[in-house]
Amino acid sequence: MKRVFQTSQGQVFIFPSSGTGAWEAAIVNTLSPGDRVLMFETGHFGTLWQKLALNFGIIVDFVPGDWRHGVPPEAVEARLRDDARKEIKAVMCVHNETSTGVTSRIAEVRQSMDRAGHPALLMVDTISSLGSIDYRHDEWGVDVAIGGSQKGLMLPPGLGFNAVSQKALEASRTARLPRSFWSWTEMVEPNKQGFFPYTPATNLLFGLREAISMLVEEEGLDAVFKRHQRHAEATRAAVNAWGLELVCADPHEYSGSLTAIFLPSGFDEAAFRNVVLEKFNLSLGSGLGKLKGRAFRIGHLGDFNDLMLCGTLCGVEMSLAEFRVPFKKGGVDAVMEYLGGARS
Ligand SMILES: *Cc1c(COP(=O)(O)O)cnc(C)c1O
Repeated sequence: MKRVFQTSQGQVFIFPSSGTGAWEAAIVNTLSPGDRVLMFETGHFGTLWQKLALNFGIIVDFVPGDWRHGVPPEAVEARLRDDARKEIKAVMCVHNETSTGVTSRIAEVRQSMDRAGHPALLMVDTISSLGSIDYRHDEWGVDVAIGGSQKGLMLPPGLGFNAVSQKALEASRTARLPRSFWSWTEMVEPNKQGFFPYTPATNLLFGLREAISMLVEEEGLDAVFKRHQRHAEATRAAVNAWGLELVCADPHEYSGSLTAIFLPSGFDEAAFRNVVLEKFNLSLGSGLGKLKGRAFRIGHLGDFNDLMLCGTLCGVEMSLAEFRVPFKKGGVDAVMEYLGGARS
């Protein structure tokens, strides 16, 4: 997993949990009640992580957002410069917002923190980017990265990950939030011998071994990232041809793992997805949080290839017609053109 997180300095802890558990582990191992953190309303998952922090008595400076952009690096710098007494203990970002299809520029967030000369920890949710969008733990100076098994790692749900820097491990020695199940300290010694302080999700660990070998050894991470970018770009070619609007408003922040698409106003996303499901047995992603009713999502991550993408987009195009959405035909043609000309 160190290779997947692209870390050699850091340590990776594996919990038998969903991603939310790994979110919680990041907080309870590093923070104390009443600590201040900086978080961003990038979408549904940024909002949920904020709620989790509030539940632990953390004071969250929650920067509002329009759910169409990622974490603004310039806002990170401004907020940290304003914090003359260095009260902010962590900057917490979702790398890939699964609700919006927007990928935040974590390297630039790091640069902003460095320019502000601020000692806060950098924590990043990589649940829907890990193993599908380039994520560089050491190079970007991330202190805690949060991962889960059921997105780009192609496994069933049930493993939660924390990739942890030395600085974060040090912070965990003085952090005062109570913890037991999630404690990194309890993990360190048994992990050295390949053991865990309690029963791990053994069967998933065997699956993880296979996932890592597929991603890192057989295909290679760079090729995996390129394949995802290519499928994302092909999907956007279809969306453009249809004349529909992407949720992601900044081309620098397009997601490689999923694409969120607005339906024209007056067309309900949930009813549309029902048509697609009933007619083609194709399950699209729902509109989450503030995007409920307005946008649907196409996932193109994990074990996925050109034909699967073409099939998916055929199902969407036929359903747009069936649902009488005003759109232009030719999305699937644009995709075939793109995929035919841009061989991986
Ligand atoms: C799926 C997801 C989560 C939540 O993970 P669970 O495994 O459902 O707890 C958190 N953040 C992001 C970005 C996600 O995609």
